[in-house]
Amino acid sequence: MKITAKEDMKKMEEEIKNCKKCELWKTRNKPLVGDGSVDADILVIGESPGYYEDLKNKAFVGEAGKILDQLLNLINLKRDEIYITNILKCHPPRNHNPSRHEIDSCSNYLYRQINIIKPKIIITLGKYASKELFIRFNLGFSKISELHGKVFETETDFGKVKIIPLYHPAVACYNNVMVDVLKDDFWKLRNIIKKCD
Ligand code: SF4
Repeated sequence: MKITAKEDMKKMEEEIKNCKKCELWKTRNKPLVGDGSVDADILVIGESPGYYEDLKNKAFVGEAGKILDQLLNLINLKRDEIYITNILKCHPPRNHNPSRHEIDSCSNYLYRQINIIKPKIIITLGKYASKELFIRFNLGFSKISELHGKVFETETDFGKVKIIPLYHPAVACYNNVMVDVLKDDFWKLRNIIKKCD
């Protein structure tokens, strides 16, 4: 009998709960696999769970999460219409930048999630998530400041996928200029989603 996307994700959740492939398992509260609908057309990928995400076991619940919610509201996109995850599933102490070893240890879970969800659009938030996906799909990463808001297309095992790198909402926590940049990019995103419907 064919396993459903929900069952497949559940199975992976169990694996991640017991994962010790990098040192982050020692300091995490609980790993955060992801949030939202496994049937979503849009997959959002951030960097790693922050302090509050680790505590509440929910994606984007801190200050950056409030900004992400405002941006989603702006284009009338609900959290249950998307799936949100990170390249690392465990909170790095003091929010340190993901190391190459941590990304290499954890990224297999992310690529399995992509194959389970089979999104039409992948939104990468920030430098680390964008760089990882660009390397994976041979898209030639330069700088997030040059790439944000642009659409890149790649071929996957389940068809063509659009990858859209954006700034991480955390950049807007103390910088109103970046709020406007993110808003502009989300408007562009809305038009791309409309074309994909
Ligand atoms: S960050 Fe990823 S690889 Fe490291 S322990 Fe957590 S689930 Fe495993």
